[in-house]
Amino acid sequence: SKQQPSLFSKVWSSWMSVPLWLQILIGMLLGILTGVAAGEQATALKPIGTLFVNTIKMLIVPLVFCSLIVGVTSMQDTARMGRIGFKSFAFYLGTTSIAISIGLAVGYFLKPGQGLNMIAEPSDMVAKAAPSVMETLINIIPTNPVAALASGQILQVIVFAVALGIALVLIGERGKPAIEVFESLAEAMYKLTDMVMKLAPYGVFGLMAWVAGEYGIGMLLPLIKVVVAVYIGCLIHILGFYSIVLTAFSKLNPVQFFKGISNAIAVAFTTSSSAGTLPASMKCANEYLGVNKKISSFVLPLGTTINMDGTALYQGVTALFVAQAFGIDLTWVDYTTIILTATLASIGTAGVPGAGLVMLTLVLTTVGLPLEGVALIAGIDRVLDMARTAVNVSGDLVATTVIAKSEGELNVDHYNAGAKESAKM
Ligand code: ASP
Repeated sequence: SKQQPSLFSKVWSSWMSVPLWLQILIGMLLGILTGVAAGEQATALKPIGTLFVNTIKMLIVPLVFCSLIVGVTSMQDTARMGRIGFKSFAFYLGTTSIAISIGLAVGYFLKPGQGLNMIAEPSDMVAKAAPSVMETLINIIPTNPVAALASGQILQVIVFAVALGIALVLIGERGKPAIEVFESLAEAMYKLTDMVMKLAPYGVFGLMAWVAGEYGIGMLLPLIKVVVAVYIGCLIHILGFYSIVLTAFSKLNPVQFFKGISNAIAVAFTTSSSAGTLPASMKCANEYLGVNKKISSFVLPLGTTINMDGTALYQGVTALFVAQAFGIDLTWVDYTTIILTATLASIGTAGVPGAGLVMLTLVLTTVGLPLEGVALIAGIDRVLDMARTAVNVSGDLVATTVIAKSEGELNVDHYNAGAKESAKM
């Protein structure tokens, strides 16, 4: 007679058909339950989580290095592209550093991590002999880029990657083969990130079991506070800051803008991928906002690669959360470092689900905060990812609109009329 599929394989195949975000949520809940039930003994499950955190760490250097080079080289070299590229770059960096400042402010005032009283293992703490600002600035240039890569000096890696990317563009034809290699490697790193994220449910299970076992149910409230803080920050950034930018730079009505991009926001929110949302944002820019395709076809993909306001904001909130949870006082040098690192790191963030969590480990490492904090955030990261991706995509569209206006490539009548008029044109 035919062999019946075993119960295990039946359970496994239905588990595999559950979407990843739900798997992670289930992993988190089961982890908390296990931890609460088993108490101190749940610490035995921590290695599963450590394995996952190590796998994330494995991605950082190659992911940042390759995707940053690809981001820089994706700017074409003709004169106009150069000017628009420069404008976009400046705009993207400026808005991103505002985003992270809003994130820090929200984290500072709402104090989501207060009262957690977590204790970092000594090995996780990076000895902080606070370097002077001058030292930090001088150290940003790697004397040996390979050593910077090997020891994971991420600021140095970023500086070298940007410089190398610019050089590759400047040598024209002869840079093409190397650019293609980096494009292919970057693609592979995105894939690898995707694969690592599939491990998240199990890693999150182990981490949550350990945290809940050690700290009890009291850890839930702070996590809810993080979610609230990130969402408040995102709303301030989108509704407040972007409205000011549109009005001040371009004299455009923000309400009309938000109506025009609502489809793209919905796609971003549900997919948690700004790269995946690109087709929808293209459509919004051209058909609803009246942006000329010449501009949107360049500024939007560039933004999707390098502009991550939501991710930067999230890093501001969560870095403070981790500092508060472990009772670590941050100096203003630390705050400056967070702003600098998160701004640069957001350039290297891929527009795929979960990429921001990988970059969070980077920001924490740079400031010397315990990486165990990632464990706390990992369980709720998807909920945060939805909001930050929506902000990322909105930021790209704001930039595209403002730059199109400044280049005389925005059809203002079309913009003011919205989609209805565009159907008639
Ligand atoms: N998921 C985000 C995006 O695609 C990136 C992130 O994880 O922060 O824009």
